[in-house]
Amino acid sequence: MKKITKLISILLIIAMLMTMSSLSASSVSSSYNPAIGDTYTIGPYTITLNDVSSDKIPDVVSILNYIILRNYDKKTGVFAISYQLKGTSGFQNVWPSDYFLITPSASCSEVYEEDFVLEKEYGSTVDPKFTHYLPYKIRFSITVYRPAIEHNGNATCENAGTCTVCGESYTAPCKGGTATCMKKAVCDVCGKEYGEFDADNHNWSNLNGICANGCGTECEHTNQTGETCGICGKELYKTLSGTVTSFGDEENEATLLLYKSGDRENAYETMVTGNSAEYAFETVTKGGYILEVSKDNHATRFYEVTVGEDNVTLDAEIHLVGDVDGDGKIMVTDYSSVLRHVKKITSLEGYALACADVDSNGRVMITDYNAILRHVKKTASLW
Ligand SMILES: [Zn+2]
Ligand SMILES: [Zn+2]
Ligand SMILES: [Zn+2]
Ligand SMILES: [Zn+2]
Repeated sequence: MKKITKLISILLIIAMLMTMSSLSASSVSSSYNPAIGDTYTIGPYTITLNDVSSDKIPDVVSILNYIILRNYDKKTGVFAISYQLKGTSGFQNVWPSDYFLITPSASCSEVYEEDFVLEKEYGSTVDPKFTHYLPYKIRFSITVYRPAIEHNGNATCENAGTCTVCGESYTAPCKGGTATCMKKAVCDVCGKEYGEFDADNHNWSNLNGICANGCGTECEHTNQTGETCGICGKELYKTLSGTVTSFGDEENEATLLLYKSGDRENAYETMVTGNSAEYAFETVTKGGYILEVSKDNHATRFYEVTVGEDNVTLDAEIHLVGDVDGDGKIMVTDYSSVLRHVKKITSLEGYALACADVDSNGRVMITDYNAILRHVKKTASLW
């Protein structure tokens, strides 16, 4: 980073006749009532106002109306610093204003920092408010800073060109294409790979949550608002699990079938052994389901279950055929309640009705009552 001090001394007798209107405000950084130490930016430049002084005008800083940077030209790197003094007499709208053009003198590829002393002398009556000082000088001390920038011109990665800003010969960097986790971008101009891998640009087209480019990255599924991961598209699984309580033979398996609501074919199936057995469906997607639980000598039971954002626990319990109250034994209480149902005294409902329909004909009738009665009296077993 080099520091050069330049003295730009320009005698501008006709400065006030040069209109500032050609310096229309496009990208502008301005400060009204500027103070020493203020900074202004335009394009890639930052200027710092180090000092303002005058040989005649006392405390000239206090009568600065504004400092504005404008008209940064990308082709030449030139920009203007314009300023205006506040009038101190009765004249309106004829405040002295003027500008300096700054032209960088450094390679674009290097950081540029330079101190300038910008001085103008006024020696005529063109600024009538300040005639009592004439002739006088105003002096601005500034530091201009610019980071390294890209050269400007027609060069490509294949053909060198001359930079319009700094005059150096240069070739442009490659451009276009898209880098991925496994491949660098391919330049639109020369067709060669360039740049770096993009470690975040994976390919989730396999919908299995593993990058199809072969980098080995697994999606963390941090976007789980829908049925599928919002990042990789993989179906997001939840676990439906719980305990199945049953009776009868400990060695017999209970069968659990899970149907998507409205489907005739079960989507999932599992078998568990024991009268208090854990089950789990670990790859369930969001949605509504019917869980069917069955076991030898038991009335099949159906549960409705909805799987949403979270894992679901559902404890199931099935009863022996004929065990209407579900206490695990078939007794007088069971056939009595069937009789009350048949006589329409107390209706059985839901799963109790299924347990009472021992001949599985879809209705609970006196034949069911008789069958349970014979079972209790051990004249004929239900199963
Ligand atoms: Zn350049
Ligand atoms: Zn290229
Ligand atoms: Zn990848
Ligand atoms: Zn994912």
